[in-house]
Amino acid sequence: MYIVMIASECAPVAKVGGLADVVYGLSRELELRGHAVEVILPKYDCMRVDHVWGLEVDHHDLWVPWDGGAIRCSVWFGFVHGRKCFFIEPHCRQEFFNRGTYYGFADDAERFAFFSKAALEFLLQAGKRPDVIHTHDWHTGLVPVLLYEIYAGAGLADLRACHTIHNFRHQGITGPHILEATGLGRPGYFAAPDRMGDDLDHHAINITRGAILYSNFVTTVSPHHAWEVRHSEVGFGLGHTLHLHQAKFGGILNGLDYEMWNPELDPHIPSHFNSSSIEKKAANTRALRERLLLRDTARPIAAYVGRLDAQKGLHLIRHAIFHSLQHGAQFVLLGSGSEHGINEDFWQLRCRLNDDPDCHLEIGYDEDLAHLIYAGADLLVMPSLYEPCGLSQMIALRYGTVPVVRAVGGLKDTVFDWDFSERPRHERNGFVFEHADNPGLESALDRAIGLWHGEPALFRELVRQGMLYDYSWNHPAQHYLDVYEFIRHKRDA
Ligand code: ADP
Repeated sequence: MYIVMIASECAPVAKVGGLADVVYGLSRELELRGHAVEVILPKYDCMRVDHVWGLEVDHHDLWVPWDGGAIRCSVWFGFVHGRKCFFIEPHCRQEFFNRGTYYGFADDAERFAFFSKAALEFLLQAGKRPDVIHTHDWHTGLVPVLLYEIYAGAGLADLRACHTIHNFRHQGITGPHILEATGLGRPGYFAAPDRMGDDLDHHAINITRGAILYSNFVTTVSPHHAWEVRHSEVGFGLGHTLHLHQAKFGGILNGLDYEMWNPELDPHIPSHFNSSSIEKKAANTRALRERLLLRDTARPIAAYVGRLDAQKGLHLIRHAIFHSLQHGAQFVLLGSGSEHGINEDFWQLRCRLNDDPDCHLEIGYDEDLAHLIYAGADLLVMPSLYEPCGLSQMIALRYGTVPVVRAVGGLKDTVFDWDFSERPRHERNGFVFEHADNPGLESALDRAIGLWHGEPALFRELVRQGMLYDYSWNHPAQHYLDVYEFIRHKRDA
């Protein structure tokens, strides 16, 4: 099969969040299985060109119709760690992608609508006819709309579109001027409530809504999140639309990069181990304690690694710290926030706990320390309010660190409670709680700390069972291939 990914990010060349890892990881796995994959990205001035091999101009004069005129683009080609990537560079006074950073501008909707249009124009003019186009998040959500409304009639009739929503919070809500600029026109038609009109703002266009309507299949990043977005407020207003289109909507878990996250080879950790040599994990625990100046004591280390964002259940993270310290565990936190107030709170907490030999809070982003925490900790706490997929719990499992998580989104799909799961005993791998409150968290954390102290052999068994899970790209890639095959053959989808 020939698949083209059109996205605003791809790791590591242009990465802001998990979307970049998915585009890279899925493309790689599909290629390993013999499929042809190409990735189309904007050519950002801030992208990491040191991760591109053989970057050179492939097309000099790609004219893209835009806002009643046309913009000339150059299309570059290069390999990103083996992936074939095209980079679109528009030459225009707006300098769409020469802004020093990826997102955060008042005209983001225009920037990425232009990119969406340019990507299709490139396929058309370069004679590329993939079987499937796979788009990601609102930035490329206009691709399926433009494909159906304009480009199918211009020569791209046989292309099928799959769209993945990584984050429902950002939907690409913009004014109807985007319709004129892209050549769709007809605001009365497209901005109607049963098309791309936004439910909450009746004067606005919702690009993600357009992507849902016009794609042949829509996915989000875990099966449980696919249920949640239809039945709860985490769909951020798109629940009804998804309900109407549920026959072409599903959840596929993200995979974890098993090359980057491999306790047998990880260059960031002093002691390598696998599920048959769990005892070697202890050397990593010692190294973690030494690095963070924690005392050497017969207590488990509970940890949090992740963004400090309201979504992650900040009050519960805070509670987990104090509860762990008071109930026989040490606590390590590595967190970074984008909001000033949140960072400030955790800095204060850090000062308050500074002299506690059982606790260390590190505010900031530190890849190296993250690896050592996953390898050295015993428990990883994730009390998220919502979590579309979540990678940290999968990393923890691979590194023999038992996840203690709230039953939401991808956490519910990947962590199975040691005491209460419906799964057979040998498939259980962590501790799970339902309610986003202190008693809920305590119920799981107490059982985890209790098992570590009271039943070390059983705790080791739980660790081993977690390490045996396969959360690589192996299964998710097959699910995406099933979706691609389904939409290729179901022509009326
Ligand atoms: P989200 O995508 O919502 O941030 P995920 O659990 O899906 O959460 O992915 C988070 C990833 O980012 C994990 O690989 C985690 O280790 C890493 N990470 C998050 N915050 C930090 C940090 N402060 N330092 C190092 N790595 C971090």
